[in-house]
Amino acid sequence: MLITHDTRCALDAVVDLVNTAPEDTTTPDALPDVAALEDFVQKHEISDVGVLSEFDLSAVRKIRGRFASIFSASDPRAAAGLINDLVAAAGTTPRLTDHDGYDWHVHYFAPGASVADHLAADCGMALAFFVVSGEQERLRRCEAPDCRHAFVDLSRNRSRRYCDSRTCGNRLHVAAYRARRKEAAG
Ligand SMILES: [Zn+2]
Ligand SMILES: [Zn+2]
Repeated sequence: MLITHDTRCALDAVVDLVNTAPEDTTTPDALPDVAALEDFVQKHEISDVGVLSEFDLSAVRKIRGRFASIFSASDPRAAAGLINDLVAAAGTTPRLTDHDGYDWHVHYFAPGASVADHLAADCGMALAFFVVSGEQERLRRCEAPDCRHAFVDLSRNRSRRYCDSRTCGNRLHVAAYRARRKEAAG
């Protein structure tokens, strides 16, 4: 499937957003206040969202939960239903653009959309294309037992199992290696 620059940015943003959620009641929310949301917006270059408020923060946290369930969807139909609801609520207006020297591509957020609606529209559509391409299974959660972070598997053979192979993958290899040694010694 074709992944344009903007799709790639939208995917990075949505993965990052979903993974700011606390994993359980003991871990802190990585999106605790408006300043954190401002950092997020700046990091992902989400344009034209104006001055952010508490209202934006709670709206973004709400859609974060909806995006999280898309990454946990068991099949394309479940994912499609969740994406449809999310995108419909955002009031999208698709329009072609070639801003900043990029090739022609489609922006889905409406002009003047809030940051939550902007994310719901553009990230929602970025995820929608995975369902359209029959690749919904690329929207995954890390298989490391104590991680479960969301990620998008862009590997050719859809074989990626961990959110960041340098940490989660290695950590598991080390654990498996120790377990084998222990068994051998036992
Ligand atoms: Zn663009
Ligand atoms: Zn992980």
